Amino acid sequence: MPTALIPGTFDPITYGHIDIAVRASNIFKRVIAVVATNPSKSPMFSADERVDMAKEALAGTGIRRIEVIGYSGLIVNCVMEYGASAIIRGLRAVSDLDYEFQMAFTNRNMLESAETVFLMPSAKYAYLNSTLVRQIASYGGEIGEFVPESVKRRIIEKMSAK
Ligand code: ADP
Repeated sequence: MPTALIPGTFDPITYGHIDIAVRASNIFKRVIAVVATNPSKSPMFSADERVDMAKEALAGTGIRRIEVIGYSGLIVNCVMEYGASAIIRGLRAVSDLDYEFQMAFTNRNMLESAETVFLMPSAKYAYLNSTLVRQIASYGGEIGEFVPESVKRRIIEKMSAK
């Protein structure tokens, strides 16, 4: 059963991530969004919150072959643990490529069988990232076109708790 992992921070999950997960599920039988619980960035949401939000948002696709896990450690270890055949990364623009090449080659150096597969999102999400969503929300802007309702609610709660 070919499995693909989608690693990321998911801080929070957006329609861009969801778009990539759905596309991946058209190619792979089992798709696992791997939420980095030890990211180098300092996230707005805790690991548990990011996992919960991703679960809720991806359940909304109705595709039960898409799962969510939290993972602390190297993605290549996760690839081995789950017997995955691919690491999926979303490519938004050419500007993503430099960093993505570094990551893909580094992962391959650590594990020869770790294949990275790049998928392009729908054009309407090509500019979307989690940082942008957090910034717009922090100024009280409307984020309903970028994230599902459940995520929007959590962002608003988090902002008002501050
Ligand atoms: P971000 O880059 O927004 O901080 P993550 O670290 O959570 O996102 O990224 C996880 C994966 O999802 C990466 O491969 C990233 O390129 C991809 N991704 C995030 N947003 C989008 C988007 N709008 N379109 C396509 N891929 C995306």
